[in-house]
Amino acid sequence: MLKNNKEVFEILYEAISEGILIVDENQTIIAVNSSTEDMFGYERGELNSKPLETLIPTNYHKGHGHHFNSFYKHSEKRSMGKGKALFAARKDGSTFPVEVGLNPFNVSDKKYVMALVIDITERKNYTDKLENTVDERTKQLREALETEKELNDLKTKFLSLVSHEFKTPLTGILTSSMLLSKYKLTEQQDKRDKHINTINSKVQYLNNILNDFLSVEKLETGKVNYKFVEFRLSKVVNEVIYNANMLLKEGQKIKYPDNIDDISLIQDEKTIELALSNLVHNAIKYSPENTTIELKVKQDKNNTTFDIIDQGIGIPENDQKNIFNRYFRAENALLNQGTGIGLNIAKTHLENLGGTISFKSKENSGSTFTITIPNKAH
Ligand code: ADP
Repeated sequence: MLKNNKEVFEILYEAISEGILIVDENQTIIAVNSSTEDMFGYERGELNSKPLETLIPTNYHKGHGHHFNSFYKHSEKRSMGKGKALFAARKDGSTFPVEVGLNPFNVSDKKYVMALVIDITERKNYTDKLENTVDERTKQLREALETEKELNDLKTKFLSLVSHEFKTPLTGILTSSMLLSKYKLTEQQDKRDKHINTINSKVQYLNNILNDFLSVEKLETGKVNYKFVEFRLSKVVNEVIYNANMLLKEGQKIKYPDNIDDISLIQDEKTIELALSNLVHNAIKYSPENTTIELKVKQDKNNTTFDIIDQGIGIPENDQKNIFNRYFRAENALLNQGTGIGLNIAKTHLENLGGTISFKSKENSGSTFTITIPNKAH
């Protein structure tokens, strides 16, 4: 049985996990409970008669004296360390964050202050971690928002391009298919072939635009997965040339190597095909009738180089620096259909694969685009 309040108080004073310390007007410690001694790393009784500053980190000493005096004069209860971090010093000099409640009281006309000290290291670690997590998440959200905005812009652009770029070829397809149905006689096969070719090439063109847009979206959202397999270059070149043949203008010819059977690459086949198609299609599109487009291939120990050479309209010197920027189209190209996306995508992909793309061009005489790619992806 507890006998009286005093006994209850004594038990509480020693059992409580918070540090309790009492200082007088000279900031001298006159009593501490054992939790305070444990918290600050002192032996029993070692803190008695020591100045309060013993428990305060040296760099806070100057400010503290002033604060204590003003607090002591006004003598109101106060708690500290809840907002701005407050630090205390252990005997070994290490510091730790605390929350402190200050309670002034009087005994026989003498004023004292009782401080209740809580070690908040764990709480602070937790809060710091939480703040870091919140910062990190905010950053991720901001980036996601940025990507989302770019994709939105892209979609808006896509819609306006679709309505603009798709109209002409679709009208062409419609006209050709209407005319096709008029040629019913067997001997009119060449007329039918002409319209079938037109339809094929226009569908190909539309398909290319769609592929370009899908590529941009994949690149923007980081969804590109390159697959590195060994393949024969002749397979890709034949595929590119086969598709390009459908786009040739009257009298245009493509010259390409037929001795590349023993050249193989360990690379992303689809990407190489996409880049080559893009350059060959541009060479056709930006060259007049009756010209030759040439594809050259070279392989050395480490790299394979492709040159795509045309005798077309060329790129004006002023526009050359912007040619790889997305949506950029040179001033002399505006009469041809196009989106200004293809070269930008090709460059991004090729650089992702450790390759490069460059060109030399002279207005009204022709362009040479050069791709270099490592024989083996790293
Ligand atoms: P698009 O051809 O759809 O406009 P690209 O990104 O493939 O888009 O090309 C960007 C621009 O580069 C073209 O608009 C054109 O001005 C220029 N260009 C590309 N290839 C050639 C070429 N072989 N000859 C002349 N200009 C070219």
